[in-house]
Amino acid sequence: MERDGNNRSIWQDVPDRTIGKISNREDVDVLVIGAGITGMTAALALQEEGQICSVLEANSIAFGTTGGTSAHLNTVLDTPYSDIIKQHGLDKTREVLQSTRRAMDLIRDNVEKYAIDCDLIDCNGQMYATTGEEKEELQKIKDAILQLGISCSEIDNLAIPVKPLYAIEFAEQGHFNPTKYILGLAGAFEALGGMIVTGALVQHVKRIDGRLSVTTADGRVFRADKVIYATHTTPGIQLMNFRIAPYRSYLQLWELADHAAYPDKVLYDMEDPFHYFRTVVQGENRFLLVGGQDHKTAHGENENVNFLELQAFVTARFNTKRKVYQWSSQYYESQDALPFIGYYPGKSDGRELIATGFGGNGMIFGSLSGHMLADLILKETCEFEKLYSPTRFGPLSSVKDLVMENVDVVKHFVKDRLAVDKIEGLSELAKGEAAVLKYEGKRIGIYKDQEGAISAVDPVCRHAGCIVKWNNTEESWDCPCHGARYGINGELLTGPAVAPLASHDIDKL
Ligand SMILES: Cc1cc2nc3c(=O)[nH]c(=O)nc-3n(C[C@H](O)[C@H](O)[C@H](O)COP(=O)(O)OP(=O)(O)OC[C@H]3O[C@@H](n4cnc5c(N)ncnc54)[C@H](O)[C@@H]3O)c2cc1C
Repeated sequence: MERDGNNRSIWQDVPDRTIGKISNREDVDVLVIGAGITGMTAALALQEEGQICSVLEANSIAFGTTGGTSAHLNTVLDTPYSDIIKQHGLDKTREVLQSTRRAMDLIRDNVEKYAIDCDLIDCNGQMYATTGEEKEELQKIKDAILQLGISCSEIDNLAIPVKPLYAIEFAEQGHFNPTKYILGLAGAFEALGGMIVTGALVQHVKRIDGRLSVTTADGRVFRADKVIYATHTTPGIQLMNFRIAPYRSYLQLWELADHAAYPDKVLYDMEDPFHYFRTVVQGENRFLLVGGQDHKTAHGENENVNFLELQAFVTARFNTKRKVYQWSSQYYESQDALPFIGYYPGKSDGRELIATGFGGNGMIFGSLSGHMLADLILKETCEFEKLYSPTRFGPLSSVKDLVMENVDVVKHFVKDRLAVDKIEGLSELAKGEAAVLKYEGKRIGIYKDQEGAISAVDPVCRHAGCIVKWNNTEESWDCPCHGARYGINGELLTGPAVAPLASHDIDKL
């Protein structure tokens, strides 16, 4: 299984999928773009209801963040309920909780109905503070959790070897294997007559004769009544670019010296950015998964340092035997901490639908989106429609954050054009390094591999024209503005761009 980065995630260790029987259907009721958890959930929900549905995926199933997640299942979200209540009020926050509970049930229902073997575990969560300031914050979080009606209590000891100053435990959480789960959804979808086309990068969606005409990069044309963008971030330049911001998070998987030390709960600390923990079971083996070090995409100087810091964090607290995996992945924070799920803003005929801005809770919100969007298509209405409407106007506090995010985009647009180092010869670049440089009067993204071979790309992002930055751990060119990402030779890894970086012919430089 492939992923949008150079580092391998444990979720890529799944048996090869048998491809479905249908491969040449070009005219359908609904086209779902993207085969992550959102797309596969939506496609299956629609096909179950008798819609003829196809999934177009630019790469392969789970290529995006679903293949690089940590797959905690939460009703207690990353943005604390105390903050959500402050921003949206108690009534809306109750609805948010209700929607997360609905998503948990939807996942459980799919697992049961289709007998999906995906290591699904129901468990409690724990959150802990190690400073007075964190304790004060965590007490507010506990009060909000209790106010909403989730069972929660103070505890003295954690399921990991950390002595907290203050800690709480709450019910209704879980975890699973995300790729086993969505491969299960894909199998069920195909068994019901659905078609999944991989290697199909959608570049254009146009209205022709009252229907949608969808064109892929290799020139194939599909027709549909409705299109769902299950692409994590919506392609093209549109309103959502200003309402969500891309972040990266880092994960490591460790074998511990003591087999009994793996936690039977999901855990979170209160640092900023926070760390998250769970156990991953793979056959006879168990591993500790720890994540954190989050930062805005392409805003770090050296992405590899995040793994070193995460490693220092883990080894200072756990009796580790060996590190088995490490990888990083991307998520999108919304302006007001809630996702955008519903009709594509500005397209008044309701034929195009989107789901984005899930933050670090996309297993839940992606599953919820799949069902909400299916209901919108089938019934023209759905539960939580208003709460998560992409056209909602967030609270005033979120507008301030929105302005700051977009000031940052403008800053990068200007600054990154000016701050380009000049080199006289390619020998100035060390092996294994890459940078955006001025060489022979041209601004070029140059990568030199360990053998000294050079790849050269035009570093202007194909989405909104910002200058990409080298990510030295995933070996990708990442855009600091809206999170588009490209491989060493400019191949597209992550939207919202829909075309690769232009490449330079190195012999002609
Ligand atoms: C490190 C990390 C840890 C996380 N941990 C958790 C967690 O513990 N719990 C949780 O609930 N959430 C977590 N999240 C968030 C969650 O993983 C994501 O929100 C979720 O996986 C998004 O799923 P998706 O299907 O919407 O998008 P993706 O999985 O990214 O899938 C989108 C797909 O669309 C395809 N695509 C994009 N553009 C096009 C196009 N133009 N044409 C065709 N195909 C296209 C891509 O190739 C991709 O396969 C985490 C995120 C990160 C980064």
